[in-house]
This record gives sequence, structure tokens and C-alpha cells, in this order.
Amino acid sequence: MALKITDECINCDVCEPVCPNEAISAGDDIYVINPNLCTECVGHFDVPQCVEICPVDCIPKDPNHPESHEELLAKYERLVGGA
Ligand code: SF4
Ligand code: SF4
Repeated sequence: MALKITDECINCDVCEPVCPNEAISAGDDIYVINPNLCTECVGHFDVPQCVEICPVDCIPKDPNHPESHEELLAKYERLVGGA
């Protein structure tokens, strides 16, 4: 399941550089996560790095993008493989 950033985001910018997949970027109002790039950090880290660092705890899982651990791992492999 990809993660999403809620409107509680304070645009502090600390999450963007810690994402191993470059899935986070500044949107029009708040930061946004590209669900095609977010693997919940599977393949890179044991825990989602953005969730760990966000000071206002505004990055829940996105129920609109349900994915199993295996699917996240497959996404990671596609991303690092450059496919
Ligand atoms: S969970 Fe990991 S891959 Fe997904 S947006 Fe956060 S830091 Fe990036
Ligand atoms: S760390 Fe949290 S508050 Fe800061 S930009 Fe990212 S989502 Fe927004």
C-alpha cells in the first residue's frame, strides 16, 4: 500500500530527501507521494523513512492503493531494475 500525505502537512521538506525512491515532491499546497514510486520503503528500509521523520505524523497508508508486501517488493525490483 502506498502512503499518502494528509493536509496536516506543514511543508517542512524533511521527508522529500529521505525517500529512497524519490516518490515525494512538493505539490501545489502540500507535499505529495507518487503511488507508482512509493514502496513503503520495502527493499530499502525496514520502516517507512518519511513516516519516521515527519514531525506532525501526517503520512498514513493510502487505502486507495492497496498492495501486498510481495507487490511492493515487485515494485521495488522494477524501480531498481530501471524497467
Ligand atoms: S514510504 Fe518510503 S518509499 Fe514511500 S514515500 Fe515514504 S520514504 Fe518514500
Ligand atoms: S515531513 Fe511531514 S510535514 Fe514535513 S513536508 Fe513531509 S509530510 Fe509534510
